[in-house]
Parts: sequence; structure tokens; C-alpha cells
Amino acid sequence: MAVRYGSSRGRAPELGFADVLLTGLAPDGGLFLPTDWPTLPAHTVSTSSSYVDLAAEVIQPFVGGALSRVDLQSILEDAYASFDHPDVCPLVQLDDGHHLMELFHGPTLAFKDIALQVVGRLFDHELKCRRQRVMIVGATSGDTGSAAMEAVRGSEQVDIVVLFPHGRTTEVQRRQMTTLKDPNVHAVAVQGTFDDCQDLVKAMFGDEPFRERHSLAAVNSINWARVMVQIVYYVWAVQRLGRGVQATTFCVPTGNFGNVFSGHVAARMGLNVDRFLIASNRNDILSRLIETGEMRAEEVVPTLSPSMDIQISSNLERLLYELLDGNGAATAELIAGFRDHGRAALTPAQHQRLTAAFSGDRIDDSETLAIISEVYDSHGMLVDPHTAVGIGVAQRHRRAGEHVVSLATAHPAKFGDAVEQATGVRPELPPHLADIFDSREDYAVLPNDLATVEAFIDGLSVRGLG
Ligand SMILES: *Cc1c(COP(=O)(O)O)cnc(C)c1O
Repeated sequence: MAVRYGSSRGRAPELGFADVLLTGLAPDGGLFLPTDWPTLPAHTVSTSSSYVDLAAEVIQPFVGGALSRVDLQSILEDAYASFDHPDVCPLVQLDDGHHLMELFHGPTLAFKDIALQVVGRLFDHELKCRRQRVMIVGATSGDTGSAAMEAVRGSEQVDIVVLFPHGRTTEVQRRQMTTLKDPNVHAVAVQGTFDDCQDLVKAMFGDEPFRERHSLAAVNSINWARVMVQIVYYVWAVQRLGRGVQATTFCVPTGNFGNVFSGHVAARMGLNVDRFLIASNRNDILSRLIETGEMRAEEVVPTLSPSMDIQISSNLERLLYELLDGNGAATAELIAGFRDHGRAALTPAQHQRLTAAFSGDRIDDSETLAIISEVYDSHGMLVDPHTAVGIGVAQRHRRAGEHVVSLATAHPAKFGDAVEQATGVRPELPPHLADIFDSREDYAVLPNDLATVEAFIDGLSVRGLG
């Protein structure tokens, strides 16, 4: 039985997987969600398997007829072949009752590779079937951009333009985007914040002639296919730790709420989850929502964990839709209120349902450095600042007897300055990135202005995309 997808705002026609993959945002402005949750077969947690076999099993019901099992399996094998660990997402013990799951073994050293390496290939497969070509336009706070570019570089069906906030990414993050030589990938530094970049992308999608002219597509974190692929490693952790019977807590360093929402889906499918700990840096709208039941946007402050410097967590809409009992009109109203007034409140009953499944807390930069240093001193292990935020929240909130898996979302070398500041040790880049500081960079710097950015993209087409 193939899953169908509807919009969180309830005013778009239901679609199958292939259309949801290519459409990204629903036509009513909402986010796609399955109309029913498939059930996780019991053996996925009770019987050990390879990561790829587990992924095929978990993902198959969501793609339905769009892809045969053989094609899915071969896409997954291909996607994870470049990972530098045979387990794809290895688990390491940190303390008694506290594991780290390393999600950074892909080509760009952040967890985004796990989904995007698959989603890029799903795009390619579907577009080939349809004999179509698209231009992917995306915004990145640092990690999504390179992961998306890496996932589609060299594709004949896809060109990609990625906007990133000028001067607000680390040098490694920027160089991972600006040193790729493939003619179908383009990096643009925007003089603004990540939220400005996201607004520009939304505005380009809202500009119908522009969207049509370039066949725009998106692979940003609201794309259902990314959420879907990330479900797998939650199941993987439970299988690997043999914890099918006792409930497990996951602690997730959170920005756009995509990663943790995937965990929530795994729980909806029947995975035995105790609760989710949502770890924020000083941009803590999510932990405040959990504490107060109110969403209130504040200015984005730059931190040592830039991939979580976000005040508007786009994937949260999927959870709000559930908290509002699948009422699309009410979800649309809540989101519009937040957009217009910078605040929106849950009812006490909705707030209670949120806190039953999610707890949250924030870790500031000086605490982040202290955690990196403490983990190095006691375990000889270097962790990146995003991972440290998660570890800090897990340590602070773990109850007696609770088993926590903290997600390590980036390789320490991706945020080497912060790690060195905390420990005095410079983490080494893996061999495939060792020469990144010597490679020539190629990117445009543009003002935070829609017309200028659109003109730049029009120019790419005129030049035949390099
Ligand atoms: C993107 C990212 C996050 C935040 O993930 P969301 O899905 O946006 O919540 C955390 N850590 C790192 C290293 C990231 O790249």
C-alpha cells in the first residue's frame, strides 16, 4: 500500500511520493505529511541487519510505487558507498547510559549527507524517468549547502544554486561549497543572515514567471524525502543497542527541527522512544516553546554552532499540525499569526501534549567550549560544538536509569577553530578534504536583494550554466 501525502495547511490535493519529492513545498504553502503512518516491522529492531538493508525496509512504504525495491536498494548502496565507516552511523559509548551516534561520516562531514546523498539520487532517478531538468535553489546556514551540492554535482538533470550568509559560515563550510569545480553547482554569499537567505529562496519560489523559467526545485529541510531518510538512523540506534524493549531517549541538537521530527516519525511508526531532548544554542525559540507554550521570535545571534542559528524552525509546522489534531486551517492560522506578530501560543492542552514527548534546553557558547574540553579530558574524544550542545543537554537532563543517545551531527574538523579553542588540539580533516585550504574558491557575493539575486541566476542560464 503506497502512502499518500497531504499538506499541513489542508488546502492542497493529495500527492504520491514522486510528486512530493519534486514539489518540496505544498502549493498552499504547507508541508507535506503522510496521511497515514506505516508500522515499523518488529524485526527491524529485533534482528540485526546492515544499515542499507534497514534503510530499504524503513523507506519502502513511504515511496510506494515510485521506486522498485531493487532501484531503492541500489540508490541506497550507492549513496552510502562514499561514507568512511561501514556502519554508516556508528554508535560509541560516552558514559554509562549515554551513547553518541556519529552522523558525520559522509562526504561533507555533517549529518545532512545521510539524507541528501539519497535525495540527490532520488531526484536524478525521477527526473530521468520524466526526461526533465530542474534548477535547485536553496539557502544554507552552512552545512546543507555543501551537502546538497555534493549530492548533485555532475548530475545531468540538476543545476544547483546555494545562498549562504556572507561571513557567517566557517571557512571549511564555505570552502566545501566554493571549491567544487562541477559546472552545475553555484555558491552565492548573501550580505545578510540565514533567515534572509531563506526569505530570498521563498520569494524566488513565489515569483511565478521566474520559477517557471528555471523549473525551480528545492531540497531544503522541509522536503519530506529528507525527513523520511533520517527516520532510519533512529531505528538503527535501537537495533544496534538491542533496546527494542526498553525505551530510549534521543537528544538532538536542533535548528530547523528536521532531524528531531524524523525521530518523532520513527516513534509514530512504533519505535520505542522515551522522549526527545531538544538541544538549542542561544537561539532557543524551541526550548522556550517547550517551557512556556509560546513561540516568540527573537533576533538571530551568531554562535559557535552556526547550523543551529535559526529562529524560525520551518519543520516545526509538521509537529504543530499534529498537536492541532491534523487541522490544516488551524495550523495555517497559527503560522500566519506567528509570521505577522512574531509570536503564537499553544493552548494548555496542546502544550501538555508537546511536553509529554519533548523536553528542551539551551547551552551558550562558554558552556559549549567547557563541554568540548570536558569530553576531551575524560574520553580523549574531540566533538564539534553542535554535538557538544547536545551532550550538554543530555548530561543535564538525563534521569536515573534513562538511556540517552545523543546525535553527533558534525565532524569536529568541520568546526576546528572552536574545538581548538576549547582543547588546544586542532582536529584533522579526513584525507578527502585535506587539500581544501589550497583549492581555488569560486563564488559571488550579492546584496540581500531579490532582483539582484534573480538577475544573477538569469545570467547563469544565459551563459549556459558554465
Ligand atoms: C543542520 C544541522 C543541525 C540542525 O538540524 P535541523 O534538522 O535543522 O534541526 C545541527 N547540527 C549540524 C551540524 C547541522 O548541520
